[in-house]
Amino acid sequence: MKSINPYNQQSLAEYEAFSDWKVQSIIVASAKTYRTWKTTELNDRVLLVKQLAANLRQQKTALAEMMTLEMGKIQKEAIAEIEKCAWLCEYYADHAFEFLAARHVQTEMFKSYVAYQPLGTVLAVMPWNFPFWQVFRAAVPALLAGNTMLLKHASNVFGSALLIEQLFMDSGFPKGVFSVLLIGAKKVEQVLKADSVVGVALTGSEFAGASVAALAGKNIKRQVLELGGSDAFIVMDDADLAKAADVAVASRMLNAGQSCIASKRFFVHEKVQESFMDEVLKRIQKLKLDNPLSENTNIGPMARMDLADELSEQLKKGLAQGASVVYGGERDRCLFEPTLLYLPTADNILAKEETFGPLMPVMPFSTEKEAIQMANNSRFGLGGSVWTRDLKKGEAMALQIEAGAVFVNGMVRSDPRLPFGGIKDSGYGRELSQEGILEFVNTKTVVVERN
Ligand code: NAP
Repeated sequence: MKSINPYNQQSLAEYEAFSDWKVQSIIVASAKTYRTWKTTELNDRVLLVKQLAANLRQQKTALAEMMTLEMGKIQKEAIAEIEKCAWLCEYYADHAFEFLAARHVQTEMFKSYVAYQPLGTVLAVMPWNFPFWQVFRAAVPALLAGNTMLLKHASNVFGSALLIEQLFMDSGFPKGVFSVLLIGAKKVEQVLKADSVVGVALTGSEFAGASVAALAGKNIKRQVLELGGSDAFIVMDDADLAKAADVAVASRMLNAGQSCIASKRFFVHEKVQESFMDEVLKRIQKLKLDNPLSENTNIGPMARMDLADELSEQLKKGLAQGASVVYGGERDRCLFEPTLLYLPTADNILAKEETFGPLMPVMPFSTEKEAIQMANNSRFGLGGSVWTRDLKKGEAMALQIEAGAVFVNGMVRSDPRLPFGGIKDSGYGRELSQEGILEFVNTKTVVVERN
């Protein structure tokens, strides 16, 4: 499997996929380690996670560079991603005791409580777009709860996968607590069939989610699916347009548009649509699309040529269906221009499918009711945002939007303190916060009666 620098198409490394025998021996080693790891004092696990945070902070420049080379993330964003992983480690280390504490329930019985116990080995199937963050947010809570983890990372970021494994080792985690499997998608079935593998956390496309969920279902394994999104960004006529435009561009262009919770459908009140687009245009024009290693670059290449081809195809179809380009639209290999589009109606492929790249389609609406209907007219339900000076109205709208998270006057973002996940075709289950750590535990009822 080849790792290719998307900026210059140069080959970075070639990895040999693990043999079936090697995969099997890693699964067995993980199961063996689980037997001791699950009984390790929580405080000892917490100390290891704190060390992991320290090592992330100390090595952030080198770790960030691997991401930039493998998938084109600009340096500033890559460093921020590593820092966010460290924050997540610190947050869970500080709250693990509280989150995993037994919950006593008042009943007529002598004693009744709920204990949260580990389950076994969890498989993580992860995407390339946030090569560190996605893995850390799946791994750290699962390991703190006493599980072990196997990582099947996206095939274009195996270098990042190996660095993460090394970080766990360097931080003092026993061998087998966190192990990488360099395998392709087809081998996931072999892993899920193993008795010691109790569940899977998958972040990726709907296609991958549906395939892995079917395998997990067949083998009766738990699953958390974090899939695609097409978040609505609703601008009401009383919104602070400058602030909304700042965040619209930041949210849509972060990671070259390749974020699940990027705003992807922009619904703007017809009274302010032109002014909003002017504000957006001023900002988009200033973005410098170039080498992600350069300090002056604001937006880097898309991660792979096939993904850029797919986006070009969507754009072509969108234009044929009535969209018009206001700015951008051109592409040089993986370097895709930040593109502002006007869509007279939402009946367009660019509003129906997830566009995983720097396309920003703006559509007008005339009433609040219409805006909510347009936002909810999607098979996805990951995030969404509403922009208005009327906070009561914003909150009321937030509660009507069908999504796992809605922000009023703020950028939809993941935060270790708040649960993260989707509804509809965006998946199920939650990561982060207490909800995240409780996904891969046995919620055990214990009752003691007087004899
Ligand atoms: P992807 O192609 O679905 O790949 C994700 C992972 O699944 C990779 O490790 C991939 O392995 C594996 N995979 C793909 N097909 C599989 C199959 N049939 N069976 C088993 N494993 C399979 O997704 P991506 O292109 O890396 O990521 C982009 C997608 O992820 C977007 O839709 C985005 O919205 C979504 N995403 C969602 C979240 C969220 O939290 N909801 C966060 C980030 C990204 P290979 O690389 O070997 O194919």
